[in-house]
Amino acid sequence: MLKLFNTLSRKIEEFVPLEKGKVGMYTCGPTVYDYTHIGHLRKYINDDILKKTLQANGFSVHHVMNITDVGHLTSDSDTGEDKMEKGASETGRTVWEVAKFYEDYFFKSVDAVNIERADIVCRATEHIGKQVKLIEALEKNGLVYVTSHAVYFDVSKFSKYGELSGQKLEDKEVGSRSDVFVDKSKKHPADFVLWFFTVGHFKSHTMKWSSPWGEGFPGWHIECSAMSMEYLGESFDIHTGGIDHIPVHHENEIAQSEGATGKQFVKYWVHHDFVNIDKEKMSKSKKNFLRVEEIEGKGYDPMALRYLYLTAHYRSEMAFSFESLTSAQVALNKLREEVRGWEVGIFSQSSKDKFYDRFLEAVNEDLNVPKALAVVWEMVKSDMPSAQKAADLLEMDKILGLELSKVIGQKIEIPEEVQKLVDLREKARLEKDFERSDELRGEIKRLGYEVLDSADGAKVKKV
Ligand code: AMP
Ligand code: ZN
Repeated sequence: MLKLFNTLSRKIEEFVPLEKGKVGMYTCGPTVYDYTHIGHLRKYINDDILKKTLQANGFSVHHVMNITDVGHLTSDSDTGEDKMEKGASETGRTVWEVAKFYEDYFFKSVDAVNIERADIVCRATEHIGKQVKLIEALEKNGLVYVTSHAVYFDVSKFSKYGELSGQKLEDKEVGSRSDVFVDKSKKHPADFVLWFFTVGHFKSHTMKWSSPWGEGFPGWHIECSAMSMEYLGESFDIHTGGIDHIPVHHENEIAQSEGATGKQFVKYWVHHDFVNIDKEKMSKSKKNFLRVEEIEGKGYDPMALRYLYLTAHYRSEMAFSFESLTSAQVALNKLREEVRGWEVGIFSQSSKDKFYDRFLEAVNEDLNVPKALAVVWEMVKSDMPSAQKAADLLEMDKILGLELSKVIGQKIEIPEEVQKLVDLREKARLEKDFERSDELRGEIKRLGYEVLDSADGAKVKKV
């Protein structure tokens, strides 16, 4: 039985879907105004693990992810500039070109770490009509007011506001900097924009549409309510996001959706913690981020990043360092080497044994993947027949996503002595000790073998 921590109840709960056997899952996707970094990838890898865990438990999952290509300002409190328009004016491209470029970059990055695409990927700009309809429903229910600047959601009219973050409305901190525009007609600092008008500092906004209230563009939050309900229904099972989404974005999504339908929006809220670098959150705004191609350029396999993220629980912060990435690369190479010599195909899926059961039990404990990974290694080291190990590992890898099916059974006979030198050389190479790495390559060659560096780690062949 799968158990998940639900931010809404602040408890670990048994997962029971609204409809037997089926799961509707929505993931807040990227704002495509800048490069996807490896911090983002942790969130999407953990979503991938959640989805695959649900599938391993026999559920059929319908997964939807949005692409924010309009309306997300540089501050969550509806102040600052539109991130997309800012990105365009900084680079001399059109907003549409900026969105396309970074969306492509996002998919290239998620592909590199083997994240499966959502069944539906939906763009905010392609669902403006749905967003307008939702705002109309909220207006009909008396939950909005209009100023000369925007259409606002009136949080004082929604009694459940603050339930997700556990903050009372009077304690809610909504920061606003003195150097940005603040709408003086806004009634409560927590009221948020449903629709911006192209007036004042948004006068030259290039992405704009007509609406019953006037020409403009949607606020950031409304797209997720409109598109999730469009594809998953008014009530659905799981909504995921980063922990920074809890107090504003997701609180607002609940208010918009339940304010319109009067029904519970989402049953389980799942939130992922951050990747830090030098004790700070890795982020676009702090410019302390690394991209997947940067780690590749340093000689790491992107799958080593995936392995690294499997070693921490999704609700814990993770400190990124190249030392930890090196350890993950070494562990992944070792795992690949272990499985290369295994026989595949004699044992069928139905022969899942106690190791697989313990593995699934661990992931079912609120996605305790580090514990599940320990079971993988215990099984690898066990004296079980290798064909049975292979059958188990292929099943486990349906959740882990390490693409082990590419290497299982791809045997190369390498003497232990050579393998030791290969491991040492890989370590030296990742530590950028090229002198030592070349020295070791020479020693390996003298023993009659050649090392080839590849995206899957070091490969060895006889010369
Ligand atoms: P951004 O586009 O930078 O606002 O990030 C989009 C989302 O990605 C955030 O709301 C977070 O949920 C997630 N995210 C951003 N930075 C990190 C990080 N360093 N570690 C994990 N997730 C992150
Ligand atoms: Zn969202």
